[in-house]
Amino acid sequence: MQNTNDYEFWFVAGSQHLYGEEQLKNVARDAEDIVNKLNASGKLPYPIVFKGVMTTADSITDFMKEVNYQDKVAGVMAWMHTFSPAKNWIRGEVLLQKPLLHFATQYLDKIPYDTIDFDYMNLNQSAHGDREYGYINARLGLQNKIVYGHWQDEEVLQEVADWEDVAVAYNESFHIKVCRFGDTMRNVAVTEGDKVQAQIQLGWTVDYWPVGDLVAVIDAVDEKDIDAEYAKLQQEYQLNPQDNDAQKFEHNTRYQLREYLGIKKFLDDRGYTAFTTNFEDLKGLEQLPGLAAQLLMRDGYGFGAEGDWKTAALGRLLKILAHNKRTVFMEDYTLDLRKGHEAILGSHMLEVDPTIASDKPRVEVHPLDIGDKDDPARLVFSGSEGEGIDVTVADFRDGFRMIYYPVDCHKAEAETPHLPVAKQLWTPKCGLKAGATQWIQAGGGHHTVLSFTVKPQQLRDLATMLHCQLVEIQ
Ligand code: MN
Repeated sequence: MQNTNDYEFWFVAGSQHLYGEEQLKNVARDAEDIVNKLNASGKLPYPIVFKGVMTTADSITDFMKEVNYQDKVAGVMAWMHTFSPAKNWIRGEVLLQKPLLHFATQYLDKIPYDTIDFDYMNLNQSAHGDREYGYINARLGLQNKIVYGHWQDEEVLQEVADWEDVAVAYNESFHIKVCRFGDTMRNVAVTEGDKVQAQIQLGWTVDYWPVGDLVAVIDAVDEKDIDAEYAKLQQEYQLNPQDNDAQKFEHNTRYQLREYLGIKKFLDDRGYTAFTTNFEDLKGLEQLPGLAAQLLMRDGYGFGAEGDWKTAALGRLLKILAHNKRTVFMEDYTLDLRKGHEAILGSHMLEVDPTIASDKPRVEVHPLDIGDKDDPARLVFSGSEGEGIDVTVADFRDGFRMIYYPVDCHKAEAETPHLPVAKQLWTPKCGLKAGATQWIQAGGGHHTVLSFTVKPQQLRDLATMLHCQLVEIQ
């Protein structure tokens, strides 16, 4: 997986001086204990750092400014152990430019009936302290995340963990750089979009590069590097020459490895983490990148075919969120409309990400009727079973819109001997007819990101952070 920055989250407890210094020490002690135990749980993908008890507007403002300044800090978690007058939070939270989680929790998970007294009540006021804090967040329109419940509860821990991944993806969205080799496919509407608005709103840099510049890098790849990749390919996958003579199979497969290494170098040298190709614009290349694109997606790069930069960037974004686990570029390919079998067969010409393979992918070489180039090598495999989401992003005159539905994924019912590509079947949870009708009505495109890892709530939280409309088809 391509690396992202090492992120951490900063945790503060809200309080005030009304209860005396002794109580503030208790607040700090309890907050530190929570942070230590959350980190020790092993359930959180990123560490939390306790940054103290906040009692004044000035200290809160300074804290939030520091959060903005420190690149390694992905967001803030705030806990109101006592009652923290919320006017103190206004200036700091207006300035905060990173995700905020209001951790509405209490130190103990129970009411200690035998021992409870006014000292205990002064210290443990989150029941109403959360309301005061929530009021100002709502008044400021922050749309921050609220996680409610005891901090040792498994479900609560999972919610915090899920939010951390979303917050990191949000931060990383502003580092996504898409390299477009060629333009979008001629005459296609849905792959177009406002690249300036994408950079303003979603943080995505989208650049064009001539294919000729890429060809020069691909042609310069060293044969020895291809030898090493070929050996790895033999280890990881099954080479399946079928009717091809051995020389052709090896040449065409090695050429895809040349493309893989060349595209990777081109992207890495310029800081790109996602890319697009277009079969109409391959001058100087022997093959449309198939296996090459698949290996790059396996490595964590975002990809969009036919110049689809929005799906390339979305793929990279959701791969970060999912730690590159089973989150892939996909296209609605063909339908099973029979009652009881309703499903969409998803695939692409070649470029299906092997992280969803349920069997050992086979390297095969077959002709491709489109693009007028040599027979491309590609990985052929079956997809997986399980629950997932299918999501797309489209550009409308009033902004970007993410459209998604939860899906049930299945394997194809039979082999397709005359369609040698990787395949994944899925059915919208609300049913194919209802789901697809709403998808089409909402203007959702045919290129999507299918994920077995990203949860619907994470997509909601991400869309909220990015101020992106989300159409939920349920
Ligand atoms: Mn396509």
